[in-house]
Amino acid sequence: MKKTDVLIVGGGPAGSACAMMLADAGVSVTLLDKASFPRDKICGDALSPDVLNQLVQVRPALRAHFDLQEKKQRINGMRLVAPSGVHFDLMLHSAAEKLDGFVMSRMEFDRTLNEEVRKTGNIDLHEGVRVKKCTPVEGGMHVETDQGEWNTRMLVGADGAHSVVAKQLAGFEMDRKHYCAALRVYYENVDWADHDADVIELHFLSEVSPGYLWVFPMEGNKANVGIGMLSEYVSKKNVNLKEELEKAIATHTRLAPRFKNAQALESIKGFGIPLGSKKFPLSGDHFLLTGDAASLVDPVSGEGIANALRSGRFAADHIQKALKADRFDASFNKAYDKRLYKAIWAELRISRFIQKLFTSPKRVEWITRLISNNKTVRRTIDRWLFDDHLMTHWNEPSYYWRKWTGRKKAQTTAPVSVLQQK
Ligand SMILES: Cc1cc2nc3c(=O)[nH]c(=O)nc-3n(C[C@H](O)[C@H](O)[C@H](O)COP(=O)(O)OP(=O)(O)OC[C@H]3O[C@@H](n4cnc5c(N)ncnc54)[C@H](O)[C@@H]3O)c2cc1C
Repeated sequence: MKKTDVLIVGGGPAGSACAMMLADAGVSVTLLDKASFPRDKICGDALSPDVLNQLVQVRPALRAHFDLQEKKQRINGMRLVAPSGVHFDLMLHSAAEKLDGFVMSRMEFDRTLNEEVRKTGNIDLHEGVRVKKCTPVEGGMHVETDQGEWNTRMLVGADGAHSVVAKQLAGFEMDRKHYCAALRVYYENVDWADHDADVIELHFLSEVSPGYLWVFPMEGNKANVGIGMLSEYVSKKNVNLKEELEKAIATHTRLAPRFKNAQALESIKGFGIPLGSKKFPLSGDHFLLTGDAASLVDPVSGEGIANALRSGRFAADHIQKALKADRFDASFNKAYDKRLYKAIWAELRISRFIQKLFTSPKRVEWITRLISNNKTVRRTIDRWLFDDHLMTHWNEPSYYWRKWTGRKKAQTTAPVSVLQQK
């Protein structure tokens, strides 16, 4: 039986961020992952500007390491296509601050994180070790794996959408209203002739609603193609997502011609997405949940990497306080839930609202037409969507007035990106 102060289950973005930040603060941690890196993770592979911001905050060298990686595609915007084919583009360069977005395979992105973890002295990393059982014991948690047992004072569940820690300790059960079913398949030679290959595409299809099919450009003439739909509606409408994806690629009027000369590089693979559209308990006696284990994915965009990194960071901060105070009980750990939801809940609520608007294909059509046909509406959405200040000022009428008229509030202090504060 081994003993450790902090044991992290899962070496994806959430677990790696938590381990690195603790180690950098001088706290020794044990990090277990059932996989050996580099490993694949089924994902859309889109890295939003917030992901890049989080990397800097985990460790500035991590962002520098990321910048050195060549296997990534820079993204300048997003195209939304309604069932009828009407579309509009939202461009990152319209934002007030310079924003970076990329598509990079999770094999590469998580390898970059893992390389930084391996470089770090006080992380005791064990790959190929699967956690099977977590049991509360006097003064901590007992963790059984397929390769030995650990006792820890604080356990961090960073073990993803099918988290053993969340199930066994927080009683997490999949709620179809707050869960998305999703599939991914890599292609090469998809035709991008109709626009520059630096825009990620979301195609709303009547058969897959609420949800969409995505085509994301990748480096090396490859593409990440996938489909996702709210699980509640997958069962209600009895939708076979794999068949819908295959059908769209083979027969859809606008998509099929673009896949005529394309080759699938793998079979279609699926994984669940736990959405942050409702609040879940994020901690308890001697444990914290992070990333997908804590259900933090944006309910509209399906993005979860930024919140995985953010929650890993916040967990690391909280654990340092817990070690100092020698407090690991549920009431002390509530401060972690509170801080994390304070940072992200406003944004998740707005996304939940948009997700509900998009449950009807007719409404998607109407909204897309409205935005596509009206330059002023498009310009305003462009300004708002990529403005991270919206999330902190959304309840101030004067904010919308300033945005609409383009007037700036008198600046009393140097402007700081809200993303960088969160
Ligand atoms: C189809 C699909 C498309 C998506 N597209 C995007 C996108 O484009 N952009 C975006 O930001 N997000 C996207 N997401 C969400 C994103 O993938 C997740 O939010 C993100 O991976 C969460 O990171 P994590 O560290 O919490 O978990 P993960 O990345 O899942 O890492 C969990 C780790 O835990 C390990 N593990 C699991 N169980 C055990 C165990 N019992 N013992 C030991 N180790 C264990 C796993 O091997 C894994 O390495 C998508 C998700 C899906 C399914």
